[in-house]
Amino acid sequence: MNQTVPKPKPRPAPESLPYWQAAKEHRLSLPRCEDCEQFWFPPSRTCPHCLSANFAFKDVSGRGKVFSFVTFHRVYRPAFAEEVPYVVALVELEEGPRLLTNILGVSHEDVRCEMPVEVVFDDYDEDISIPKFKPVG
Ligand SMILES: [Zn+2]
Repeated sequence: MNQTVPKPKPRPAPESLPYWQAAKEHRLSLPRCEDCEQFWFPPSRTCPHCLSANFAFKDVSGRGKVFSFVTFHRVYRPAFAEEVPYVVALVELEEGPRLLTNILGVSHEDVRCEMPVEVVFDDYDEDISIPKFKPVG
């Protein structure tokens, strides 16, 4: 297995740039509608709840729970060969939105739905930090 293959670097789209800028500062910040006051993810140009274009990025708690998850045992991309087995989870934040992410700091065998988790930041390089989650406590 070629272990020199780098992991793919996230490339922020214009809509998600504030999300990535906050993550670089280790803050989790999501779009929040100024009209219906709901958060959403992934970022988009209008609120998916009421279609308003009147929104701003606001920091969220970074706390949530595992809504669903899968464990990858097979190497689909050489860059992730050293990571298997790893967990890809849908984390539901306290504020409502669900993020597709990884669960760190716990054996894949111990991850459970409804498990309380909190955000951690995986620094890819000086420009990009990737929000991931670990069990609370
Ligand atoms: Zn709205």
